[in-house]
Amino acid sequence: MTSEHPNIFAIAQQQFDLAADLLDLAPGIRAMLRVPQRELSVNFPVKMDDGSTRIFTGYRVQHNLSRGPSKGGIRYHPSVDIDEVRALAMWMTWKCALVNIPYGGAKGGVIVNPHLLSQTELERLTRRFATEISILLGPEKDIPAPDMGTNAQMMAWIMDTISMHRGYTVPAVVTGKPVIIGGSLGRVDATGRGVMLMVREVARRTGRHLGDLRVVVQGFGNVGGTAALLLNQLGCRVIGIADASGGYTCPQGLDVAAMRTFSDQQPSHTLDDYSAPGVDRITNAELLELDCDVLIPAALEQQITATNAPHIRAAVIVEGANGPTTPDADQILMERGILVVPDILANAGGVIVSYFEWVQGLQEFFWEERDVNDRLDRIMVAAFEHVWHLAHTRNISLRVAAYLLAVQRVAEAEAVRGFYP
Ligand code: NAD
Repeated sequence: MTSEHPNIFAIAQQQFDLAADLLDLAPGIRAMLRVPQRELSVNFPVKMDDGSTRIFTGYRVQHNLSRGPSKGGIRYHPSVDIDEVRALAMWMTWKCALVNIPYGGAKGGVIVNPHLLSQTELERLTRRFATEISILLGPEKDIPAPDMGTNAQMMAWIMDTISMHRGYTVPAVVTGKPVIIGGSLGRVDATGRGVMLMVREVARRTGRHLGDLRVVVQGFGNVGGTAALLLNQLGCRVIGIADASGGYTCPQGLDVAAMRTFSDQQPSHTLDDYSAPGVDRITNAELLELDCDVLIPAALEQQITATNAPHIRAAVIVEGANGPTTPDADQILMERGILVVPDILANAGGVIVSYFEWVQGLQEFFWEERDVNDRLDRIMVAAFEHVWHLAHTRNISLRVAAYLLAVQRVAEAEAVRGFYP
């Protein structure tokens, strides 16, 4: 934690406090929503391929359960810590409330670099972690999904582990699992598709043609890679892409499909060594400051800070990642008239289709991909309209409007249920 990168849970609480002040929340409800409801911290052994045993640390945090079972991804990353998981869990509560799906927020994480483990080590780690947190999990209790460093295969291992404990198959205990075992069509692309929908809606509202938009994307994984590809297919010119290997720019437009194929074929799953005529290498910092119409941070938290916010040249920022903009930077961007579509709205596509997957799993009735995408479109557009309308009626940012709608919904649920006993 530095002044450039303040504590992420403190940021989440600061964002909540602003909404709580504006809503004049009752003190008891405010105190309740400011902190997570449940936290589980686990240290567990994993047998490594060389015969040694390593102890790993992981967390599962449930921020709020007033609107339904809790929902949120599991992250494998060396920098995972309890405050990051708390912040991500709180953001999940607001995200689910904003798009009005019947979930509370949760998040999990393990301190590990998954790229340094073999598949067999990852499987043992995932199955043991799932067992450690299994006291919290269940289709009606808490439902994990993939996040950074985890994928459909790991969700399959979690589903299988919980099913082995129960003695029967429990497909709805996780989402983001492979289609063959009850995953939903459209889930893999859902978050990136949602980001694309938000760019489309902003363009509609601001009278811009998609074909005129120059787009820059930071992160070329599940969210950024899909968003870049879909926007490119809609006619946008993607002039900059960065991943962990650095940035790539071409003012005439990058060949996003070719870059995706390239990175998919690399053992590192990055664009390292990618080259094409007219494409220049730049740093990640330079990428964020490229002259463009839409900037999509879709990699890590705290990428847009008070230091680079004055130099951002995008007209619109659509937050694919969770928490990519610090509150100080947010203020600067607002003063500079840069429109920010906040994370809890912009990247909600994943949890919306996770909800569809859970519903399909519980009903054992599976939908066509077209139905999934249509319903996703309708829910995201409705949420965008609500946020846009409130922001313009009250002359507040889209982020504050989104928080007001979300926090109010959760506070009302708390109030009507009352405090037990
Ligand atoms: P991912 O692991 O699939 O991809 C992450 C990408 O970021 C990779 O391309 C990686 O190379 C790149 N990256 C890593 N370090 C970087 C750096 N320093 N600079 C630039 N790029 C860097 O992860 P993802 O699922 O795409 O998630 C990205 C973000 O979106 C996270 O904040 C995550 O919480 C959020 N998110 C994901 C989903 C989802 O459904 N996957 C849903 C909502 C929010």
